Amino acid sequence: MLAYHTSLYRDTPLILSVTGVTKAFDGFKAIDDLNFYLEQGELRTIIGPNGAGKSTFLDIITGRTRPDSGTVVMHEQDGHDLNLSKMREFEINRLGIGRKFQTPSIYKSHTVYDNLVLSLNKERGVFATLFYRESKQDRERIMEVLKNVGLEKRVNDLAGLLSHGQKQWLEIGMLLAQDPRLLLIDEPAAGMSDEETERTGELLLSLEKKHSLIVIEHDMEFVRQIARKVTVLHQGYVLKEGSFEAVKSNPEVIEVYLGRKGKKSQQN
Ligand code: ADP
Ligand code: MG
Repeated sequence: MLAYHTSLYRDTPLILSVTGVTKAFDGFKAIDDLNFYLEQGELRTIIGPNGAGKSTFLDIITGRTRPDSGTVVMHEQDGHDLNLSKMREFEINRLGIGRKFQTPSIYKSHTVYDNLVLSLNKERGVFATLFYRESKQDRERIMEVLKNVGLEKRVNDLAGLLSHGQKQWLEIGMLLAQDPRLLLIDEPAAGMSDEETERTGELLLSLEKKHSLIVIEHDMEFVRQIARKVTVLHQGYVLKEGSFEAVKSNPEVIEVYLGRKGKKSQQN
């Protein structure tokens, strides 16, 4: 049986169901009875003030942090359900859940191409890598990924020479090389120029349907660009979910998030 979230679109099966998840650090509930459902192929944006629990939420999905209570279930395409809250981080990663952190973790002294080779090989393990000669298939796959992220002209350049935005795209490419089912991306536009931000938005939009994505973001212009359904997190729970316009004009959201934007951007 495929899982559906009955109150939403009935025709698209879910990939992720998070129910009643709570996580406290020293008695402080960073995540508080959180319920969250993601459809297969969906692009979801999560917003919320600093400390709302956004990064902790991603940590819980990837197994980096274990919830105190509640369940995180990934629904496989064959209808099989996997309880992620009982699995280890590397096991969850192997299921095709890729995470992009804010600071890119690329190999600066390797070429763009070799970064993708290394990423492909993560799947294969050390022994296979020692004897690795990339196949025609791998080369085609790498070039396809580089085209998707707009770096095909930089293929032979050292990754360290890329601009900040290009480094972020390379890291997204490294995740894509592993063909993840679910991509979790934390503040991709941070520190980018306006033009890079817009291209990042286009890139993320091009990935929906083929992959499921959760994107955490602060920059409201960027959120407007990529927004499909938006989830507002506040004090570890879902304050509001809906279209960008609905969320933006909601008085509670304005109070907890947009109303504090001026203060927050001073901190950043
Ligand atoms: P966001 O990403 O929305 O800014 P976080 O998920 O980073 O928020 O943090 C949510 C709350 O949980 C914050 O108050 C933060 O200080 C706290 N927190 C997160 N991780 C830890 C940790 N490992 N130990 C203690 N407190 C933590
Ligand atoms: Mg965060």
